[in-house]
Amino acid sequence: MKISRRAQDVPPSATIAVTARAQELKAQGVDVIGFGAGAPDFDTPDYIKDAAIAALKAGKTKYTAAAGIIELKTVIAQKLRRENSLEYTPEQIIVNIGGKHSLYEAMQAVLDPGDEVILPAPYWVTYPEAIKLAGAVPAIVQTDKANSYKMTDQQLRNAITDKTAMVVINSPNNPGGFTYTPDELSGLAKVLEGTNVIVLSDEIYEKLIYGNTKFVSFASLSEDAYNRTLTLNGFSKAFSMTGWRLGYTAGPVEAIKAMGRLQSHMTSNPVTFGQYAAIEALGEPAAEAIENMRVEFERRGKYMADRLNSIKGVVCTESTGAFYCFPDVSSHYGRTINGAEIRGSMDFAKALLEQAKVALVPGLPFGCDNNVRLSFACSLEQITEGLHRIEEWLKQ
Ligand code: PMP
Ligand code: GLU
Repeated sequence: MKISRRAQDVPPSATIAVTARAQELKAQGVDVIGFGAGAPDFDTPDYIKDAAIAALKAGKTKYTAAAGIIELKTVIAQKLRRENSLEYTPEQIIVNIGGKHSLYEAMQAVLDPGDEVILPAPYWVTYPEAIKLAGAVPAIVQTDKANSYKMTDQQLRNAITDKTAMVVINSPNNPGGFTYTPDELSGLAKVLEGTNVIVLSDEIYEKLIYGNTKFVSFASLSEDAYNRTLTLNGFSKAFSMTGWRLGYTAGPVEAIKAMGRLQSHMTSNPVTFGQYAAIEALGEPAAEAIENMRVEFERRGKYMADRLNSIKGVVCTESTGAFYCFPDVSSHYGRTINGAEIRGSMDFAKALLEQAKVALVPGLPFGCDNNVRLSFACSLEQITEGLHRIEEWLKQ
């Protein structure tokens, strides 16, 4: 059958591909350590599951308003006010089918063919594809290791052209594991003043921050920032609800309405009983469940970064957010290990999986070929064993 140009041009998600390959090998009985997964390894807390079961039993099984039920949008508005100092009315909020859908739909709603979208590298693999599917063009900004891979004011200023329609800010960052400080974000916001550039602020990892790190929502920085920002968030990471497919977007009412029109034709509402459970997710017991998970991630992330830095030729900044380490392994490029030539991150990841049975994601699809991404959403035992294997493999 004929395949559209649009579909032909889209590569499969590298993060999902690595996770799937590791699972496939495990199913064949191969002892693989998987650092690919971008999903918390904890189960969804019981109070959320119970709410979904109760909603199902109460007959919450029919279509709802395409943009989500008013009760959930109201609770999201309360959450954004309480935790993020953001004032949104329910009509400024849309519930989507996962954060990935929020991002795709937001871009479909505000981008036109030929628009440029500033995308600092490293970036999550889905952004460039969502930008291109909207007919727009990614304008990649290469960041500096010395600045923890964060885009500076000057880099943003230099990247803006008369075609720039949007800039994507993802903090805490996947795959970089860094978090912009409030001052750094204010600096970026100032550069945008007087322009028409929209900010897509992907805040899905807001709850997973470590050490003295402070999280601040971009839209809360100033009135100017508020008016130009689409705030994107979801339930996958904070509540271990990756399989539930629930995300949301908040922003200027005309943009949210445009997303709602698209959603009314593309998908209709997110799963009905899931929406009712999401109301509970944002309620009282959340704090403790999230904090327990955060503390555990912090412990693992610190251990992983320390251990990576103890491996010869590997340089890793400690993560301040999300659950990823993104070490620079490029000093090993140019070597041949057990017959495999390591020319870049793709070769590195492939040979490591084949020879040492450790799965990680190469940096190339994140826009940084010098690096590889390891998720610490796995047990400390697996981290210990996996890093031992990497060290032994690199010694060869
Ligand atoms: N943004 C970032 C940066 C992510 O890493 C993810 C994880 N897949 C998402 C958005 C979307 O997550 P989901 O679709 O599961 O809500
Ligand atoms: N966002 C996660 C990751 O980066 C989940 C997989 C995906 O959706 O890409 O691994």
